[in-house]
Amino acid sequence: MSTFHDLGLNNDLLQAITDLGFVKPSEVQEKAIPVLLESERDLVALAQTGTGKTAAFGFPMLQKIDINSRTTQGLILSPTRELCLQITNELKAYGKYCNGLNVVAVYGGASITDQARDIKRGAQIIVATPGRMKDMISRNLVDITKIEYSVLDEADEMLNMGFKEDINDILSHTPADKSTWLFSATMPREVAAIAKDFMHNPHEITVGNKNESSNNVSHEYYLVNARDRYQALKRLADANPDIFSVVFCRTKRDTQKVAEQLIEDGYNAGALHGDLSQNQRDLVMNAFRKNQIQMLVATDVAARGIDVDDVTHVINYQLPDEVETYTHRSGRTGRAGKTGVSMVIVSKSEVRKIKSIERIIKKEFDKKDIPNGMEICEVQLMSLANKIHNTEINHEIDKYLTSINELFEDTSKEELIKKVFSVEFTRFFNYYQKSKDLNVSEGSNRDESEREFKGGKNDSTRYFINVGSKDGFDWMKLKDFLKDQLNLGRDDVFKVETKDSFSFFNTENELREQVLAHFTDFKHEGRFVNVEVSENRGGGGRRDGKKRSGSKGGERRGGNKDGRPRRSGDFKASNGDKSGRPKRRSEGGDSRSNNSNISRPRRSRR
Ligand code: ADP
Ligand code: MG
Repeated sequence: MSTFHDLGLNNDLLQAITDLGFVKPSEVQEKAIPVLLESERDLVALAQTGTGKTAAFGFPMLQKIDINSRTTQGLILSPTRELCLQITNELKAYGKYCNGLNVVAVYGGASITDQARDIKRGAQIIVATPGRMKDMISRNLVDITKIEYSVLDEADEMLNMGFKEDINDILSHTPADKSTWLFSATMPREVAAIAKDFMHNPHEITVGNKNESSNNVSHEYYLVNARDRYQALKRLADANPDIFSVVFCRTKRDTQKVAEQLIEDGYNAGALHGDLSQNQRDLVMNAFRKNQIQMLVATDVAARGIDVDDVTHVINYQLPDEVETYTHRSGRTGRAGKTGVSMVIVSKSEVRKIKSIERIIKKEFDKKDIPNGMEICEVQLMSLANKIHNTEINHEIDKYLTSINELFEDTSKEELIKKVFSVEFTRFFNYYQKSKDLNVSEGSNRDESEREFKGGKNDSTRYFINVGSKDGFDWMKLKDFLKDQLNLGRDDVFKVETKDSFSFFNTENELREQVLAHFTDFKHEGRFVNVEVSENRGGGGRRDGKKRSGSKGGERRGGNKDGRPRRSGDFKASNGDKSGRPKRRSEGGDSRSNNSNISRPRRSRR
């Protein structure tokens, strides 16, 4: 079988498929659609993300329901609001020639009464998140007692998110003789249990190896010191001027922080995580879909299953806790026949995880070096040259040409080209000329932070703080306390060492003023907490806790670890901003608050 027609789909659907530009069914579609059309059997389908699962259950469901009836016959459960909306939109597109079709999305964070009203109008298909669906059932706003087809989409993720009880509850309100179609990227025990409890003799489909990664995606890793992560991320972005990427962080907090920092540094970035309001999430997703955001920084849950075409890079800013999650992340790129790159920024202590990922995805990683400053300058320069070369002339400028020509009367073409390119080049050159090599060699057994710990090279500051284990702190608690107090990320406070009544910790030099300022006249639980720069730069720390005065100034170094004067105001590149990243002319707007980047003129991606 090779065409959608052969699979047994009707003309209304085939017409929509033509409109959508789908030429050939994907493997999961080829395997699932005929079975679902021809029988009333339950189905368990394992397929990685991006394989076209929505159409695999969507087309059969659309063909099997009675569009002339207003009874709800199909129920699709999916883990997140974004997916729920995405599936709803897909189904509407698939069913655009099915006159009278009504698909309603049901999810938290929007008006439940509006959703109930839309359903009452006669929704043949409901696409819902489990939480909101359960809510609607308990408030008698929906009748699912006549459901004939239920779909559990991204079943593994729904269970991961703790929706097991809700799913049990919802399914208990549906008829026992309905068909259940379960779709999942992985088959952990919990999913197998659901299949066993709710399904009768299901037909099973596995597409590819269940965790295998798409052939269109290549995998790269970059070994850096943990505290150079952010610098590394920026370089990867700068080295890929047309990047359109999803950047994964492990926690909501890191996600927010990295996105904010990128925006501050002049990138078109946005955050997507569960602590944002629905409205903020919609704004960010819309901007991303329209390619107005080049770097979508997201948590795994928020980005699960998100289908945006043309994502060029997935960047693992931090590796996921579970190795399997990597497959989902990298599946955000290399979709719909395009190629993509999945990049991982790792520190020494995590590098062995790369090996376990390789085993799971059955692909090898390339170890790559973070590009150095001059390489980035070159890439940026050539990207600009190509852009200028491909630019269509805007004749609105004709009326100014006389004065411009006058100005350049004595400038030769050669000189003019040099000048034009210098405008851009100088920004990046000034920014990167003294940048350091961020790469760590795999061979050495100690990474740089460790060397520094032993008293070698030093661009971090060690502090003394007058609380210790007597005050209930161990190193982890103290690290959390400092991170929270200073609003820093997990890599920003390091080498935390607690003693009885005092402790030590390190931060980058550039954070020194912030740290000292925060703990000036600072009281915690009624007592003064005092932080000072420690003279002891090594790991041992001072044991007596005395003689702390006079050390405050410590050794001062100019610039940050990149050798780049950051936040110090002495950055004088032509278009530079104070955050240290050379700003593009087109981005030179005044406002840099969150979301302000959305409407900014953006660079074209091709
Ligand atoms: P999954 O649920 O497996 O992650 P989706 O259903 O979201 O995958 O599909 C991924 C993308 O591929 C969507 O943009 C979808 O429109 C597209 N797609 C699905 N089936 C086909 C096909 N047969 N040919 C081309 N594109 C397809
Ligand atoms: Mg899907």
